[in-house]
Amino acid sequence: MKHDKSRQAFEDATRYIPGGVNSPVRALKAVGETPLFIEKAKGVTLFDIDGNEYTDFCLSWGVFIAGHANDSVTSAVRQAVLNGTSYGIPTLLETQLAKKVTELIPSMEQVRFVNSGTEAVMSAIRLARGYTGRNYILKFEGCYHGHADHLLVAAGSGVATAGRSNSAGVPDDFAKYTLVAPFNDKEAVKQIFSRYADDIAAVIVEPVPANMGVVPEQEGFLAFLRHITAEHDSLLLFDEVITGFRLTLGGAQQYYGIKPDLTTVGKIVGGGFPAAAFGGRREIMQLLAPDGPVYQAGTLSGNPIAMTAGLSTLQILSRPHVYEDLNDKATRFILKLKDALEPKGIYISHVGSMFTPYFTPEGKAPRNFGDVQQSDLGEFARFWRYMYANGVYLSPSQFETNFVSIQHTDEQLDHIVELAKDYK
Ligand SMILES: *Cc1c(COP(=O)(O)O)cnc(C)c1O
Repeated sequence: MKHDKSRQAFEDATRYIPGGVNSPVRALKAVGETPLFIEKAKGVTLFDIDGNEYTDFCLSWGVFIAGHANDSVTSAVRQAVLNGTSYGIPTLLETQLAKKVTELIPSMEQVRFVNSGTEAVMSAIRLARGYTGRNYILKFEGCYHGHADHLLVAAGSGVATAGRSNSAGVPDDFAKYTLVAPFNDKEAVKQIFSRYADDIAAVIVEPVPANMGVVPEQEGFLAFLRHITAEHDSLLLFDEVITGFRLTLGGAQQYYGIKPDLTTVGKIVGGGFPAAAFGGRREIMQLLAPDGPVYQAGTLSGNPIAMTAGLSTLQILSRPHVYEDLNDKATRFILKLKDALEPKGIYISHVGSMFTPYFTPEGKAPRNFGDVQQSDLGEFARFWRYMYANGVYLSPSQFETNFVSIQHTDEQLDHIVELAKDYK
């Protein structure tokens, strides 16, 4: 496989764009490569500018559950563009998508649309603080909630890849209200609550942490968080920017049967355009401007093209049996992958259609970020490059998740299993 044009394109890009990319993990540094430049994508296939094809398991970080350039989404968007692409004035589309989201995720009694997951989380936390009149938030090591200053503390994803537990440019005072505990550690949470309880505005968690790779909850950890937050009048904020519309139509909260006070969704909800949302209990949401004192706004928020793509995507996902079929297909595939890789000491962690290979000592299942950090990143990179050389684009870091789409076929998935069997 040749990458000459991508290499040249990267060189050109680095002259004008820091690091040549507009988001760090795309640089492929964690896997010792230079970035791929994409010409187009269709279904689950990426086409790069050198004429190579890849089966995509990153899918724009989980956005394309219904496949790239999905015909229904594309034709809806094509129509919508002809009517103008932003007005700064409300449209019916915003209410339609808000209605759909609140029907699918009933804990989101009202929603507000923004342009990115970062913005959704940042706004939800401001709202939690405004509602409770408290200062602290509690987050978990290795969970990523976007790049707002006070959330770049013990963050996963690209921040973990870069080997930093924090970012330069964030004054200590900005981060001092962010408390951090290990995921799946009830004792640590109890201790933090015993010390700060009456000043904790919210506990924020990825209900399936996916930005340190997939690390499922254990021993009812999410139910425990629901209990301890309710007990102390703190809010529980589920960051479902990845899991929303991924595990089930109702997100991880439906999957685990837990009702948070606030929720953020992103990625899938914009159907491939920059949209995300936050929402929750009506009495909390009503504190937002213009009716309430918590300010929040956005020039392109509720953008009609993004709303159209989101609506079209959620319509596809609302057809009967979509999630049963997806989760069944993914589970069949992942179990075969486990059979192929676990004898080689590679552990496959998975929930629904999300999975991550780990290179932990003795192939041990990680239960928190500390465990994930034991994974051999060199071995991860070697495995990633093997798949890449064989036309498979996995998410390019240990601290990320792979996704199965409704468009992956059993033949494509079986081919990956065969490649996995031949590894080493
Ligand atoms: C991707 C992600 C974000 C940030 O979303 P952006 O759209 O990249 O700003 C926040 N939280 C979680 C759980 C995410 O996966």
